[in-house]
Order: sequence, then structure tokens, then C-alpha cells
Amino acid sequence: MDVLEELDRAGAVLLKRHFVYTSGKHGSAYINLDPLFPNVGLVSQLGNLLVKPFVGQVDTVIDPATGGIVLSVLAARALVDRGYPVAATWADKHDDGFVVERAGFAEHLRDKRVLVVEDLLNTGGSVEKVCREAERHGGQLVGVSVICNRGSLTADKLRVPRLEALVSVSFEAIPADECPLCESAVPIVVDIGHGAKYRIDHPGYAGGYVTMIGA
Ligand SMILES: [Zn+2]
Repeated sequence: MDVLEELDRAGAVLLKRHFVYTSGKHGSAYINLDPLFPNVGLVSQLGNLLVKPFVGQVDTVIDPATGGIVLSVLAARALVDRGYPVAATWADKHDDGFVVERAGFAEHLRDKRVLVVEDLLNTGGSVEKVCREAERHGGQLVGVSVICNRGSLTADKLRVPRLEALVSVSFEAIPADECPLCESAVPIVVDIGHGAKYRIDHPGYAGGYVTMIGA
């Protein structure tokens, strides 16, 4: 399977627009994997690819909620289908962090081999928090497996033994005060990335603002 082509076909790769990234930098491309999730067949295949490098090494899969719940379950399912009794868990978002709080979940982490899965790595913040939360509960991390790494993150930076990505992409990210799209007054997308926050800080931006989702 050509994963990048599948993402493009699903509408997850957005090009030729004007986005504000999590880092605050600007750029013309964005990856938003949400359009994949309703496609159960495709997400099942991706879940299978995510666990492939870790077959036989995992007791529990964990993921940052809520987008990741589907991925955690389908990734674990791919291992169950191979005959391994693997559990699917997730950490719930709390203020700035992620917490394992649901009844019975912690038992699936304590002294277990834990794989963290995620759809998209940008800054890696959510995944790193889930890694530390899994360790706090006594989990032994075997690695992180993601569909798309667009932050050039490494296993070292995440402090895990291994990082696998089905695709790695890098888009040019430009500091806002040097952005040629701002210079040309191209409208900024507000409902993907951090455009909405930028609008609050720059209400008078000459190019104005646009929405994409549902448009
Ligand atoms: Zn810009």
C-alpha cells in the first residue's frame, strides 16, 4: 500500500493554502488525518501496518484520546488476529496532559510491554506525554508507531527504544514575520491548525481568514 497516496485520496493532505502550524510558523501544506477515521477498512489496514514491526513484542497498545481510540483498538485487533492477546487502552486528555484514569486500564500497563500508536506526529507533545504516563504506571515502552511523522521526530527525542512511521513528510515552515503568503495577503485557514489563535492575535490581517472544513 502506498500510504501517502491513500492519505491524499482520503483528503488528508491539504496543499496550496495558508496555514498556521502548532509551532506558530506558517506554510502552504497541512496534514489532517481526521478524514481517514470513518473509513474502517483503511484504518484497519493502517493499524495492521503500525503493529507489524512489533509483532510478538506487545502486551498493550495505548494512544492519546480521543482521535487515537479508534487507532488503538484497530492496531490491537491486528495483533489479536495474529493470535496475541493484546489489550487496547488510551489516555484521556486533562488540561495540559494525558491521564490513564479509566477503571482497569492501569492494570494493562503495569509490568506490560507497551506500544504507543498515533496518527500524526507534529511536535510530538501528546505522544511524549502518553509515553511518560505509561511509564508512570509501570509500563515498559517497546516503542512508538505512527502513520505520519511530519515533525522529524526521533526515538531519542521521545525517549523510547524505537520509533516507526509509515510515512515521513516535511513541509516548509516559515516564521510568521517572513511568510510570503502573508506578504501576498493570502487568506489564513482558521479551522485547521492554529489559525484561530492567530486571528485572535491579528484581527486586522489584510488577507482575512477562511474556513475549510465543511466548506
Ligand atoms: Zn503567513
